[in-house]
Amino acid sequence: MTDKSTDPHCLFCKIVAEKVPAEVVASNDKAIAFRDLNPQAPTHVLVIPRRHGANAAESAEHGLMDALVSLAAEVAEEEGLTHGYRLVLNTGPDAGQAVFHTHLHLVGGRNLGWPPG
Ligand code: 5GP
Ligand code: ZN
Repeated sequence: MTDKSTDPHCLFCKIVAEKVPAEVVASNDKAIAFRDLNPQAPTHVLVIPRRHGANAAESAEHGLMDALVSLAAEVAEEEGLTHGYRLVLNTGPDAGQAVFHTHLHLVGGRNLGWPPG
């Protein structure tokens, strides 16, 4: 890992480095998936790149968004979400982004309703 790939003050970088515990459900060389601390649905998993990026646009520049979607789909299958699921990328204050390390929310296991929020 290069210096630019991790931020020592970032909560999710600490989860990647296993300095902060998380319930990891899947991982590979590019991404990890772990359960959200405050789940909003029966399945609520965060899928994040190992490399630090502040948001989806930055991680897209790193070429990592495909890896996040693919790992989310694997987790959705493992969780038995045959009726569907939602993938959410909160970006910036209007969307309520609270952690500035890219994270794809995988939510499912109930009817999610539309429009959101
Ligand atoms: P955001 O609002 O930035 O899109 O979502 C951040 C998410 O991270 C929230 O759903 C919140 O519950 C989750 N979260 C915040 N801190 C932790 C933590 O330490 N561990 C885990 N597993 N999830 C966290
Ligand atoms: Zn980070």
